[in-house]
Amino acid sequence: MKIWFYNAQILQNGEIIKGDVLINNDKIFYVGKNPPEFNADRKINVKGNLLMSGFVNAHAHTPSTILRGFADDLPLHNWLEKIIPLERKLTPDDIYWTTMLGVMEYAQAGITAIEENYAHYKPIMSAYKNAGLRARISFGYPNVNQKKVENLDEQFSDITKNGFKAVCFAHSIYGTHQNNFDDLISFSRQKNLPVSTHLSETLKEVGDCTVKHNKSPVEYLEYLGFLDRECTVYHCVHSDKDDLKILADYNVNVVSCPSSNLKLASGIAPIYAMQNAGLNIALGTDGAYSNNSYDMFKEMFLTATLNKALLYNAEILKAEEVVNMATKNGAKALGFENLGEIKAGYLADLIILNINKPHHAPHHNLISNLVYSAKSSDVYLTMINGKIIYEKGKFDIYEKPKDIFAHCQRIKKRILS
Ligand SMILES: [Zn+2]
Repeated sequence: MKIWFYNAQILQNGEIIKGDVLINNDKIFYVGKNPPEFNADRKINVKGNLLMSGFVNAHAHTPSTILRGFADDLPLHNWLEKIIPLERKLTPDDIYWTTMLGVMEYAQAGITAIEENYAHYKPIMSAYKNAGLRARISFGYPNVNQKKVENLDEQFSDITKNGFKAVCFAHSIYGTHQNNFDDLISFSRQKNLPVSTHLSETLKEVGDCTVKHNKSPVEYLEYLGFLDRECTVYHCVHSDKDDLKILADYNVNVVSCPSSNLKLASGIAPIYAMQNAGLNIALGTDGAYSNNSYDMFKEMFLTATLNKALLYNAEILKAEEVVNMATKNGAKALGFENLGEIKAGYLADLIILNINKPHHAPHHNLISNLVYSAKSSDVYLTMINGKIIYEKGKFDIYEKPKDIFAHCQRIKKRILS
């Protein structure tokens, strides 16, 4: 389908330009002020609103929507003890519907690509495929204390055959046995695949690892050979200068999830130090059971402000840098080369925000507004791969919202009984 967006303010390369965006099937065909002849199936007047790349949620456990608000106000390790028994009751059908609930949230909040790190990738993949979400889906050792997996190859082919990127995932140093780390690393080497894990999320994790291995979690991953691969790590709240240098030496992507880190009282990630170390920093929401919403506006605001307050320096972490973390840096972390910017030839994942609202006026700086004033409810159109999946309150995600809500209520009742 060919779609012509006209009269837009477009966020491109850190600047706002006024003009048009032409979409040809799954790609952006043209961006600028003098569009060529184009036989569009649909023309959309953006009415001076803001058109930008969709957000990349670079770390999520999407089906955890079903446990949103269930075990709040607990530290991470006690929280896991409450969560895990209920998660074990979820069937593949449950996971399909709870993922769909997340898909609705993503569409409404302008999130167009996801790094998915939940177990049971099959029903998640079905939901994403039906809804048209873009994702890199993890496989391998997503659970705490998981036994050895015999069918890594089968999981990998299943994910890629269905059109998704795949990443070899180990839950964490504290939750994954060293033999399983070794197994995953050797598989990723054999297939030349990226790897990912939760890392240095809490002080307890760092303390336990140091006592057990006489190494920080980052040093331990280096020792295992995990960092030799194209690698993405989630959190890194407690990483010192030496750790950050090691991560930078291996070009590791770091995903920060400030809401989750604050709510579980894990701490505040040293984003400014990570920037200075030259790391690619992306942002993620983590799961709805620890956040509790899939909203990149919240993550951007916290990323920009927490390190300013921590270091008593308002000039660090500029709005434009933080928007990049939520878009193109995330695309890089997920291994997409032509995603995360509004640029001809790039994949057509974009969103439009209504900026004709009081909290955006009087439009001094639209990029600053995105980080400091905007709300996810400003998003009124979400396009992925050239298909509009959300527009002015209406979803086109294969399932009906009323069915998704009804199934999730039914599942909630059953797992609590
Ligand atoms: Zn996580």
